[in-house]
Amino acid sequence: MIIKGDFHMHSYASDGEASPQEIVKFAKRKGILTISVTDHDTFVGSVLASEVASGGIVVILGAEVRSSWGDILLLCDEPVGIRKDPEELREIANENNCLLIPAHPFDILRLGIGKKVYQHRMWDLVECFNAGSDPVTNAYTCIALRNYPLPKLANSDAHVLEMIGSAFNYLDVDSLSKESILEALRKGAIIPVPLYSVRGIKDRFVWTIKRKLNTKGNIWLGHKLARDLGLAWG
Ligand SMILES: [Zn+2]
Repeated sequence: MIIKGDFHMHSYASDGEASPQEIVKFAKRKGILTISVTDHDTFVGSVLASEVASGGIVVILGAEVRSSWGDILLLCDEPVGIRKDPEELREIANENNCLLIPAHPFDILRLGIGKKVYQHRMWDLVECFNAGSDPVTNAYTCIALRNYPLPKLANSDAHVLEMIGSAFNYLDVDSLSKESILEALRKGAIIPVPLYSVRGIKDRFVWTIKRKLNTKGNIWLGHKLARDLGLAWG
């Protein structure tokens, strides 16, 4: 079966606006049948999302790790320890069957890892389009990665509900299960669909201003949620 998936977004557990529960509901309504909530340096958002994702939508557990090289998506079956050193992160990913994906690699202003993306042995896939990056950066990334040997993803990097699924991927999966979805990602049974959402960009702009006025509140919430779930923070 062919399903739509978006594997990069943020909840209020880090710097996003919506709760993990709202994210699951919105994605399902939009026909995005698999998502990963990838909050910064924590699995807390995706754990909470997976708890409410019963029937019809699959949440892949994930985090966006702010590593010493830049931002890397970590997608797993279960929450794992997060390391800032990419080599250590690779070891953890190998031990736990997780996927490592450089996020917006050439978006230097948003902590892309730049040319380290060419160290193919470190990565499982690469994000070739990020709906939170500007069109010039995305075009450059697309050209720079045209002969890239690993599977490519297009993700929304949504921080507000309306952005979820703006960019997405078609996945060819055997069943609507975590195992099938991770397997499709691993073997590259995916077609990235690189699109922007005007409404999403507008909402994100408003959210960015609101967040700047109240950053501490959000970080505190993420820490509290992580503590309640017994999860380590970064
Ligand atoms: Zn992100």
